[in-house]
Amino acid sequence: MSTGTQKTIAMRSAKKIALVAHDHKKADLVEWARFNRGTLARHRLFATGTTGRILEAELGLPVQRLLSGPLGGDQQIGSMIAKGEIDFLIFFWDPLAPLPHDPDIKALLRLAVVWNIPVACSWATADFVISSSLMNADYQRIVPDYEGYVTRTIDGSETLATTKPLANS
Ligand code: PGA
Repeated sequence: MSTGTQKTIAMRSAKKIALVAHDHKKADLVEWARFNRGTLARHRLFATGTTGRILEAELGLPVQRLLSGPLGGDQQIGSMIAKGEIDFLIFFWDPLAPLPHDPDIKALLRLAVVWNIPVACSWATADFVISSSLMNADYQRIVPDYEGYVTRTIDGSETLATTKPLANS
């Protein structure tokens, strides 16, 4: 539905939840997920490679596993958010360790905001979020209507939609 400069994206009651935890945070995420197993079982779960492998084993629930985060998994989740294939992110990132894929982490968090999906980056936030009555309800997520951006004028004459791709050299 489009409402002027905004539109909404429907989130069904069974949500598509992505779970990611950095190595020093994996134990926290597993404990949190075990406690909330009953709720998580009502949703579709996705995760970066190692997080997903551990969660599947610990929860006994199906988890669609992507690549490991540093090998592209964070970017895969970001891409899925942009395509509307993920509508929820539980991301226990490590605030005390420098990580080689820091740009990917930043990109993932940025896309989550671009597409206005709920994001929990800490145990307490995840507790509040998963306790929300909205978890088990349909929800209309408001996002800016990016159509104006996509079709914006370039150099005063062209639009992105009509800009020809560069020829292969
Ligand atoms: P992992 O990736 O689940 O494969 O460990 C997490 C991350 O570092 O993004």
